[in-house]
Amino acid sequence: MGEKLFTLSFDDGTEQDIRLIGLMERYGIKGTFNISSGIFGRKTYIKRVGNGGKTALEADPMHPELYVNHYILSEKEALRVYSSPNVEVASHGTHHLVQSDLTKIQAEEEITRDFRRLSERFGCRIFGHAFPKDTFNGNVIDALRQNGALYARRVSRQRPKDLSFDRSSLILMPTCRHCDPFADELLSEFISAPAGRDDMVFVMWGHSYELDYGTSLACWEHIERMFQALSRAKDIKFVTNRELYGT
Ligand SMILES: [Zn+2]
Repeated sequence: MGEKLFTLSFDDGTEQDIRLIGLMERYGIKGTFNISSGIFGRKTYIKRVGNGGKTALEADPMHPELYVNHYILSEKEALRVYSSPNVEVASHGTHHLVQSDLTKIQAEEEITRDFRRLSERFGCRIFGHAFPKDTFNGNVIDALRQNGALYARRVSRQRPKDLSFDRSSLILMPTCRHCDPFADELLSEFISAPAGRDDMVFVMWGHSYELDYGTSLACWEHIERMFQALSRAKDIKFVTNRELYGT
């Protein structure tokens, strides 16, 4: 008999992760935080654009309401925040570079160094990666395999056909983003579906700073409602990304 498995996969390691992890602990949700070991403490801003965002180095002082903080946790804070038992730490590239044109040496710097540093700092093996801006090439894939990555997460752009899951693929395609217009409907279908012969897997991805946008879908109230609905289901197992792969 298959299991129903739910996991979160959130990127960038910003300060809003503290509040999100508080909610995860309250509702028993588990997940993976993809962070970059070379940019701890970096402070930028994201301009609110509908349910999306646009990076800005400085907020327009005349219109601060148009921006949300993209303050990456310091290393010290990160060590404390991600020590939650509900959380796995994974790689998001040492410097969060676009990865589509990286040479072999640059891929080593972005992937191998990130895996090594995170492993040293957090005192555990690093099992996976999320591609910054959904970009990668063959050098990146080679470096991920050399570092024993079990998964490398992309981003989803459309509603998936089903909730089946392929553990043999290095590429992890998430099910939906927390603020997708179809997220609620898809989650309701997952919650109400009876377990089948094969596992059903729901991977929700996003960034916790998006919850500060304050739109109807990209807000704290929406994700808490989804966590509440999940926590009431008796047949869902909450896992980190690593645990999806049985490790
Ligand atoms: Zn990112």
